[in-house]
Amino acid sequence: MIFLDNAGTTKMFRECVETYSHFACEEFYNPSAVSRQSAFVHAKLEDTRKFLLKKLGAVEGTIIFTGGATESNNLAIKGAARNGNFEYIFSNGEHPSVFNVAKNLGLEGKNVKFCKLGKNGKIDLADLESKLNKNVKLISCMLVSNETGAINEIKAISSLRDRLASNALLHVDAVQGFMKIPFSVEALKIDMLTFSAHKFHGPKGVGGLYVRKLNYIKNIVDGGGQEYGLRSGTENVPGIMAMRTAVEKIDVKKNFEHVLELKQQLNKILSGVQGIKVLDFNGSPYIEVLVFDGVKGETMLHALEEKGVIVGLGSACSAKKAGNRILQEIGIDKDEIISSCRISFNAYMTSEEIEKAGKTIIEVYNDIKKRVS
Ligand code: PMP
Repeated sequence: MIFLDNAGTTKMFRECVETYSHFACEEFYNPSAVSRQSAFVHAKLEDTRKFLLKKLGAVEGTIIFTGGATESNNLAIKGAARNGNFEYIFSNGEHPSVFNVAKNLGLEGKNVKFCKLGKNGKIDLADLESKLNKNVKLISCMLVSNETGAINEIKAISSLRDRLASNALLHVDAVQGFMKIPFSVEALKIDMLTFSAHKFHGPKGVGGLYVRKLNYIKNIVDGGGQEYGLRSGTENVPGIMAMRTAVEKIDVKKNFEHVLELKQQLNKILSGVQGIKVLDFNGSPYIEVLVFDGVKGETMLHALEEKGVIVGLGSACSAKKAGNRILQEIGIDKDEIISSCRISFNAYMTSEEIEKAGKTIIEVYNDIKKRVS
């Protein structure tokens, strides 16, 4: 199988399985217990926190380990909202784990506003500017869109925050950016940041929330008080240590260059093929959208799988629902949305695989086109 749905999830590195196994079966001790063995595990957890903070380019703050990005996003937003009644700003491009939390805050009576996206898939900065004021408590937006690959201008967003809404925290869902594109929380002036291990070849169900200061949020789950009292429950040590192994193995810059070449290679193969259009938002090289004139994306997806190529239909979390909120928001034609598939690469694919995938996409499309016309 040639897997081109890596924004949905990635294959775990073998090395992560080995690390997982070690911390599940050998050093399996509870990091909060008092034995010497537990203390060793605790020290490794703390060292991993420091290691990840460095990778994020943080000079202060800490990481709260969570059960993945959905939980990190909930903790950041609901945790900040538990601190008082203010205004909250999100974008219309957010993943459901932010967007639905935001909608529900609104239903609970909080003052929630949503910013538009421009045609380039990025947050419309003029619209954001018009919504900022000193009562804004939180701005939450993604770094890289999981639907289009568009990269938001986080530096410009934090500058607007500094100028117009200096009381606001900036939370960034960096699930599709961390370990894929180079950035630093310090340079971008990010206060909280979400990441998830299974998007970069680590295990599923583990991730983290970076927080510059612990008092930005309150806990949303009560319990034994682990993770600074902000995420009770015994830490998933095997998962966290396996996530670290994935981070250690990845060379972000080298992978970026390689994936960019793969994407350019695929686009070259598809260029000039009648009926196939690439929607490339010039953002992350890891993600793009293909439109197949006259053929449903879902039909293409199933036919491609028969031939050994797996593509995506936008966010797996919303793929089963009709339409695509994000593509609609940026003004893509309804017919084009129905005829679209999401292609997302990983850095360990070869150009031979891309060549095969490209040829298969053309073959399958032409074959279906012939049958339906
Ligand atoms: N945010 C974004 C941008 C995502 O792409 C995803 C995964 N599709 C999530 C959040 C949720 O991640 P998780 O599966 O770790 O809960």
